[in-house]
Amino acid sequence: MSKFCEVRLPRRYTAAMTPNPRQVAAGHLDAGQLDAAVVGAGPNGLSAAITLARAGLRVRVLEAHSQPGGGLSSSNWQGFTFDTGSAIHPLGYASPAWQEWPLHAFGLDWVRSPAPYAHLWWDGRALALPQKLDAAAQVLGPDGGRWRGLFGPLVTAQAELLEDTLRPLLRLPRHPLTLARFGVPALAPAPLTAELLFQTPEARALWAGLAAHVNLPMTTPGVGAAALMLGTAAHAGGWPFPRGGAQALTGALAEYFRWLGGEIQLNTPVRTRADLPAARVVLVDSSPAVARRLLRRSTPAYDAWLARFRYGLGAVKLDYALSGPVPWLDPAAAQAATLHIGGGLREIEQAERGAAQGRLAQRPYLLAAQHTLFDPGRAPQGGHTFWVYAHAPAGTGPEYADTIEAALEQLAPGFRARVLHRRVTTPAELEAFSPVFGGGDVNGGRFDLPGLLARPVPTPTPYRTPDPQVYLCSSATPPGGGVHGMCGYHAAQAVLHDLFA
Ligand SMILES: Cc1cc2nc3c(=O)[nH]c(=O)nc-3n(C[C@H](O)[C@H](O)[C@H](O)COP(=O)(O)OP(=O)(O)OC[C@H]3O[C@@H](n4cnc5c(N)ncnc54)[C@H](O)[C@@H]3O)c2cc1C
Repeated sequence: MSKFCEVRLPRRYTAAMTPNPRQVAAGHLDAGQLDAAVVGAGPNGLSAAITLARAGLRVRVLEAHSQPGGGLSSSNWQGFTFDTGSAIHPLGYASPAWQEWPLHAFGLDWVRSPAPYAHLWWDGRALALPQKLDAAAQVLGPDGGRWRGLFGPLVTAQAELLEDTLRPLLRLPRHPLTLARFGVPALAPAPLTAELLFQTPEARALWAGLAAHVNLPMTTPGVGAAALMLGTAAHAGGWPFPRGGAQALTGALAEYFRWLGGEIQLNTPVRTRADLPAARVVLVDSSPAVARRLLRRSTPAYDAWLARFRYGLGAVKLDYALSGPVPWLDPAAAQAATLHIGGGLREIEQAERGAAQGRLAQRPYLLAAQHTLFDPGRAPQGGHTFWVYAHAPAGTGPEYADTIEAALEQLAPGFRARVLHRRVTTPAELEAFSPVFGGGDVNGGRFDLPGLLARPVPTPTPYRTPDPQVYLCSSATPPGGGVHGMCGYHAAQAVLHDLFA
């Protein structure tokens, strides 16, 4: 049994919904009637299931855990809501599929902090970057014009950009000019881009903080793409998160799916094909290794690609229940729900390179979220939560948490004294929670060029497998890691095209 316990979701919204006639008629779906079975109720499994159910198919999702969500779920400790995996959802908010679906009617309510993110230096200074580009340019002084020049056109064309990037890259672009604008800084080594584009240490550090979301050395080609995507999202729709916890977004997806007539079967680990109900097609929201076990037919070439699938660095993650807010030295840090902690460009680059070589930094790059400043319902009166992780090799143990906590204490003296409860999750525990997070890699596979172009195979529709009855739909397929559901959406589109045209 996992240590991630269950959170109850408010059902007040669904109670008010008009019943869907298909759901009322279906009740429980008989095995013989199933069109599709989906293994795994992560954001991609649920998005695949919804896409199929919207097309009128009869779909059942099988989930190993006692609640749906995978990396989009929450647990509870004495009234404090901890997000098990993802905490902040810029791509979830911008997701082309989810924008189309009535998730608000099923309880989703986005929360934004005044600034999408803040950057912290080791001397305690913090810079909170405003969402509006003009205001951000003012804050960045001499580099303001360059920042606006880089992100402004991408913010304007964000819908086009997402259409071409949140899908397999081995397809003809629909908006080649927008993609070309994106391409150069996306492919150049991130530190070089920072130094060529910006002159101030502040703008360079902000760029590094964005790029370091990718759990690979920052010089890796492709890392800049994440910086551009995330930076664009910050100035377009902000970096929101679901009120009440990540589980609330999963709750909205799950309730919408059920309303469409779908069924979710919990506590159902699928180990072999024998664990599956009879269905015309199976979509696998899991790792390539799990998918391989479920194939009845394969080829040596496909097997070789799956065996070659590689992961980035893992993460050591800490969840805190606090008796008060984090006592930051610089109050600007309290303006943003998301924090990039790590100092200047070179410090972040060295910390990330060191981690990739097995040398854990005393001052690591930390990604942190402080939801309760803006969503107080996640903790009892006066209490706060704090979510933070550092990149670390797969075998790293829980002792690294003390280094992370010491770094936090340096920027917020008195932090330790406010800790009521601390939970540490190692890379191995992340993988045990969901096989998608191989080696603790939160992105479910490397975010470098080979990892983007061959995810897991170099084809325009890598959701297909040699077994015509099995499709892969997790973040091990394009567009990869992050909560956006687009892997599941595209996999389901392939299924509809191939089998239910
Ligand atoms: C610590 C951490 C922090 C993150 N932070 C962010 C963030 O802030 N923002 C963001 O956008 N993304 C973040 N991510 C990434 C994001 O959570 C993932 O990219 C996303 O959850 C991937 O979705 P998925 O559906 O592909 O896989 P998962 O979310 O892993 O879901 C897969 C589901 O399938 C189930 N499953 C797998 N195999 C089987 C089987 N054989 N039988 C039955 N069930 C099975 C699993 O139990 C799981 O529920 C974070 C991830 C982690 C771990």
